Amino acid sequence: MMLDYNSLLTALAVSATCLAITLLGSWFARRTETFLLACAIGLVLLVSAIVTYGFYVDTVTRSLGIISFIFVFSGFAMVWGAGYQFRTGLFPHFSVIGVAALAMVVSIVPMASGYDGLAFMIENVAIAAFLLATAHQYWQARAEAALPLMGITVLYCLTAVSFLLCSAVLVYDGKLVLGVAPDNWAEDLSLAVCIANMTGIGALSLALHQWRMAARHRADASTDPLTGLLNRRALFDRHGTGVMGATTAVLVFDIDHFKSINDSFGHAGGDRVLKVFADELTANCRGSDTVARHGGEEFAMVLQHVMPGRAEIVAERIRKAFEAREIDIDGEIARCTVSVGVAAGRAKPVAFDLMLSAADKALYAAKRAGRNRVELASHLQAVPVDTARTAS
Ligand code: GH3
Ligand code: MG
Ligand code: MG
Repeated sequence: MMLDYNSLLTALAVSATCLAITLLGSWFARRTETFLLACAIGLVLLVSAIVTYGFYVDTVTRSLGIISFIFVFSGFAMVWGAGYQFRTGLFPHFSVIGVAALAMVVSIVPMASGYDGLAFMIENVAIAAFLLATAHQYWQARAEAALPLMGITVLYCLTAVSFLLCSAVLVYDGKLVLGVAPDNWAEDLSLAVCIANMTGIGALSLALHQWRMAARHRADASTDPLTGLLNRRALFDRHGTGVMGATTAVLVFDIDHFKSINDSFGHAGGDRVLKVFADELTANCRGSDTVARHGGEEFAMVLQHVMPGRAEIVAERIRKAFEAREIDIDGEIARCTVSVGVAAGRAKPVAFDLMLSAADKALYAAKRAGRNRVELASHLQAVPVDTARTAS
């Protein structure tokens, strides 16, 4: 049995409605992902466009054509805005209104003037432009989850091509005035592509949402909420079973007399000092380095690709910079210092936990020697990996 054009339009409207409800449900479960809400609103507008266009196919009137254009462009502009929001976290309100209004003007003017053929040529090109712009948003975000994002990009591009074909067929026919809804092979193809791709885009959008949630939970589990640094668990996940070579170093920092900071400035004041120190550490590390909050006011840094003697220089730079910081706590100035223990890698690989405990011992030597200083672990012998494993 062949389905007529209106039945296919109804199928598209029904599946778009189901998808909108699913996206809305996913957004409801975790309201931070507002791109799902924007997508759902876009779909509702597109369903309205499809329904209006269905009436237009039966009864061609300029007003129905104009109303369907208004719905179609507000819908596609929302879908583009949702893509932008997915990538940046911000919904581009003014751009969405601006581009939707522009597309409406250029297509509604010829429709209102009776040039419905011209209006549909422009409409199809404008829809393709919206779809390509949306594809571009997901393409730019592909680093986050390459496969689903590239899948979404391809589906949006294919859909755009189907609308360009619709426009091309109308241009080829050259009729600026049609008097009926466009009816040709490209229209049928585009409708089929829309039904198939919308399902694919919907499934991938939900998969992306789940993927993002899982990634966020993983990040939460490895992040210290106060400072935003990695926590102790993440430090050990990253280095715990590893061995440290000659060009690595482990630095352990402990803020001096921190208890008295809490006593003088309150716990919130102490927290502020911890954040300032975390910023100092972050400012002094490179992409390959690891900075973590090891415990209460203890921090660890793992440096990679460092020349001999370099780790002490880094430690000293951080110590001096922190000593010089005037930390404003509710209008009062706090000054703090930090002691540092440094274990630099040896020619033979050493297990991470041994490097860490050597740096810890050096830290306590720094404390004993009067605080606000850097001590180098001198007693760390080059321990072969196997021995290190047995020792730990
Ligand atoms: P030292 O110079 O020997 O390191 O002395 P200290 O006072 O810094 O060290 P001590 O270990 O005696 O005290 C650490 C204090 O850090 C005790 C604890 O209440 C406080 N602390 C631990 N975690 C936090 C935190 O998240 N926020 C605040 N404000 N204080 C914390
Ligand atoms: Mg301590
Ligand atoms: Mg301390």
